[in-house]
Amino acid sequence: MPLASISRFYFSALFLLITFNLSAGENLATTGYIDTHMHLTIAKNKKQGQSNSRKKPQMIGNARLKETIRQGKSPRGPKARGGQKSQSQSNEEYIKAAENLIVLMDEYGVGKCLLMPPPQIPEQSKKVNNNYKNCLEVVNKFPDRFVLVAGGGTLNPLIYGTDAESVTDQVRKKFEQQAKILIENGVRAFGEMSVLHVAMAEHHNYSQAPADHPLFLLLADIAAKNNLAIDIHMEAVVSDQAIVDSLKQVSHNPKIIPATIGGFENLLIHNRGAKIVWQHIGWDNTGGTTPELLRKLLAKHPNLYLALRREEGAKAGRSFTPNRIADESGKLYPQWLKLINDFPERIMIGSDEFVGIPGKTKRMPQSFEETWSILKQLSKETAEKVGRLNAKRVYSISD
Ligand SMILES: [Zn+2]
Ligand SMILES: [Zn+2]
Repeated sequence: MPLASISRFYFSALFLLITFNLSAGENLATTGYIDTHMHLTIAKNKKQGQSNSRKKPQMIGNARLKETIRQGKSPRGPKARGGQKSQSQSNEEYIKAAENLIVLMDEYGVGKCLLMPPPQIPEQSKKVNNNYKNCLEVVNKFPDRFVLVAGGGTLNPLIYGTDAESVTDQVRKKFEQQAKILIENGVRAFGEMSVLHVAMAEHHNYSQAPADHPLFLLLADIAAKNNLAIDIHMEAVVSDQAIVDSLKQVSHNPKIIPATIGGFENLLIHNRGAKIVWQHIGWDNTGGTTPELLRKLLAKHPNLYLALRREEGAKAGRSFTPNRIADESGKLYPQWLKLINDFPERIMIGSDEFVGIPGKTKRMPQSFEETWSILKQLSKETAEKVGRLNAKRVYSISD
């Protein structure tokens, strides 16, 4: 064989070897991510003709999506059907929404999502058809892809139904029994629990309970004892403050929003064995979730974890969105990148999107693609921690 051919042969072999190793490495690094906070929805799309198709965020080049399109498969679920639904139809619809979410997860290398009901107050818990049983149904159907988190539809209403001063032994017992049912059903965390939830629209609820409410403290003890986490929805309010202008339009939002951080710190201190995950960091409705405050709290409280969320841009309909983690193009702001790099063991991803069935369910603000797209801006090592390893450890998730 002439020398030139031999070197060409070795060069080609080397090229193949490198290509193979790179693609194997890429697969390993991008197939096992864990999203710590997702919802499904079967709420109907009331406006005829309203599109709920997904918008692609910027800064994403995604081979898997292109592949799905190339193969001629629809990346989303079936078309809408009208009419009333029975319980089994609802379950069927949740499964369809979950299948839809799985397509999305595969596009972004997300192996597992923690699935949970949203936080509910007593008036809602009987009306809202989004409870842990729906989530459990999905988890049982796809045990390799979903992990159960619950309490938003059972424990949260118990907290909101009892004033801090009125917590009797009987109430505590009832709360413990409800928590036990969830533990027996295999939850990895209690959630979504709400400390301060402002109403974004007239049909939303405003709800607020201090994070050091005796039942939240009891929940921390139960979580610590069972090695479970607590998933928290909370606006950051250091001291009582006037509500921001954009939320004044909702009539049942109070004019003054009470402080949350003091009570939250009491909860963190109460039982260091309870892992508290503060969700929706980067989605701020009071202006208080600054990197500076978070840095201070992370340094002070070893049992505090944060989960990042990035919602689609201004077109989502709201103008007041301070303390976002990235700009409109998707680039992380330097102060957030620094926070992530300074606390790489304490930060995770929690996209917090309600995924439904295109053409059938109501369009909710999109945040899955937007949130996961930031991972590419982290070093490989940090991305592994933020995208996977921290969630695996905090929620005791097996491969
Ligand atoms: Zn929430
Ligand atoms: Zn949520």
